[in-house]
Amino acid sequence: MGEEGLQRFSSEYWMSKALELAEQAALRNEVPVGAVIVYDNEIIGRGSNNPISSNDPTAHAEIIALREAAQKIKNYRLVNADIYVTLEPCAMCAGALVHGRIRHLYYGAAEAKSGAVCSHINLLDQPSMNHQVEVTGGVCEELCSQQLSSFFSRRRAEKKAAKLAARKVRD
Ligand SMILES: [Zn+2]
Repeated sequence: MGEEGLQRFSSEYWMSKALELAEQAALRNEVPVGAVIVYDNEIIGRGSNNPISSNDPTAHAEIIALREAAQKIKNYRLVNADIYVTLEPCAMCAGALVHGRIRHLYYGAAEAKSGAVCSHINLLDQPSMNHQVEVTGGVCEELCSQQLSSFFSRRRAEKKAAKLAARKVRD
């Protein structure tokens, strides 16, 4: 996706960067989710979903981006930093955003099954939490949803083709 027409530093601009990272995940046959952490109009952390390739169940885009950002600023708290992620975070990642003191979460597509921000449960809106993350959902929602659904339809087609090929070898 080109940057033309996107106002620099708008939420759509940052989400386009997250979408690029999600596309890299798709190329590795990982579910396409991408995240960037922005501080003072600069990207300080990038994440591209990678659990299968790295044999790491925690290697979600948000966690990878949080780790990079915290290393970059040499602080485990990312006060006044915002995260842009193409898909609604899961429970692990929503918890990590609170631990990282992220100021504002912007996400693209909702995740009906395991989304932990508004869909399945609502972890970020608990009065007992010692830090409140502000939330804006639906940023570039259509692009983010399309990227996911085209990935899953490609993978289904590939699996079907592989099955057919295996059958031909047997016959
Ligand atoms: Zn996650």
